Amino acid sequence: MTDASRDCVDMATLQGRASEIIAEITGAEAGVVTSGAAAGLLLGSAACLTGLDPARMNRLPDTSGMPNEIVVARSQRNQYDHAIRASGALLVEVGLPDRVAGPGVRDAEAWEYAAAISERTAALFYLANPASRPALRDVARVAETAKLPLIVDAASQLPPRENLRRFLDEGASLVVFSGGKVIGGPQASGLLCGKKDLVAAAALQMLDMDIPFDHWNPPAGLIDKDRIPGLPHHGIGRGCKAGKEEIVGLLTALRIFVSPEFDQRILELRRMAVDLCGRLAGLENAKVELEEDGYRPGVAGVRIAFDGGADVAARVTLRLLGGDPPVHVDSAREDIGVLRLSPIGLKTDDLDELAERLRAAAG
Ligand SMILES: *Cc1c(COP(=O)(O)O)cnc(C)c1O
Repeated sequence: MTDASRDCVDMATLQGRASEIIAEITGAEAGVVTSGAAAGLLLGSAACLTGLDPARMNRLPDTSGMPNEIVVARSQRNQYDHAIRASGALLVEVGLPDRVAGPGVRDAEAWEYAAAISERTAALFYLANPASRPALRDVARVAETAKLPLIVDAASQLPPRENLRRFLDEGASLVVFSGGKVIGGPQASGLLCGKKDLVAAAALQMLDMDIPFDHWNPPAGLIDKDRIPGLPHHGIGRGCKAGKEEIVGLLTALRIFVSPEFDQRILELRRMAVDLCGRLAGLENAKVELEEDGYRPGVAGVRIAFDGGADVAARVTLRLLGGDPPVHVDSAREDIGVLRLSPIGLKTDDLDELAERLRAAAG
C-alpha cells in the first residue's frame, strides 16, 4: 500500500486490472474494489437502476419515471440497507417472518417475491447468511424468470473461501464482500463483483469521469465504450471510491485469503482463543469456554457465561470499556449473562494484559 501511494496511475486502468484479478478469484465476469461492502451496495443498487444509461446515472437519486423498486424479504431488512436506499431505490418488503416472532415457522417464500414484481421493479436483494430464508437459489430462480438482477450482501460471509464463488454460482448477479473483516484487507475496502454490464455501470458511477469522451479509453474488460453514448460525471457512487492504496491492499489480501497462508492465519486466531480460554480457566462464578463461530469454519472465540446473569455481564462490560485501553467485547447476549471475545482484532502480545483485565473486571 505504501508503494502504491507513491505511484500515479489512471484509476480506470487500475480498476480494470483489479477486475481481471477479482474475476480470476471469484469466477465473476468482472469486479471493482470499493470503499466497503456498504459502498458496494450503493453502487450495485445504482447500477441496477441505471443500467448503462448515462442520463439516468446523472439523475440519481432522482428515480422518477424509472423502475426503482428493489424487492427484499422483510426478515432480511437491516440497517446496512441504508446504502441501497441512498441510491434512490425503494425497498419493497415481502413475507411475514413469524418464525422469528414465534407463533409460526415460516418466512418469506419464493412465490411472494414473484408476486411483488411489477414494471416498477429494478432488482431483488438478498442478505446472505446461513440463517436467511428462503434459499438463495429459489430467489435467484425468480429473478432469472423475471429477467431482473439479484444483489447479494455477503459482507461478512468470508471465510470460507468457497463463498467467494458460491453466491454467484447460486445465481446472484452482483455480490458484495467487506475487505476489512476476517479476510484482513484494508479496513475501508470492499468488493463488488458479478455481471459485466452491472459492474461497468457501477464503475461509471464511482470513477471521476471528468474527461472528454474522445479522450476516454477505458479498459475493455471493465467498460465497453461502444455501449454508451456519452459519459456521466461525478456519479452518485463517487463517495464510494477506493484509492490506489486500498485497491492494491485488498487484491493482496484476497490473494493471501485464497492461499494456504490464510489457513495459518485461521490457526493463529484459533490458538489465541484457546490460549485466552486457558488463561481464564478458573474465573470465579463464571463458565469460560471456546465457542465455534458456527458458520465460518475454523474460526472460534471465547464465551464467558456469568452465574450472576445479565447484571454481572453488564457491569463487567462497562468496567472493561472504562479501562485504559478500553476492551471491547461482544455483548449481544448480555441479556443472558454471556459476553464473547473475538480474536480477530488481537495480537498474541495482547493476551497477557487482556486476561489480566478480564480477571480484574470480573472480580
Ligand atoms: C459489515 C457489513 C456491512 C458493511 O460492511 P463495510 O465493509 O463496513 O461497509 C454490510 N452488510 C453486512 C451484512 C455486514 O455484516
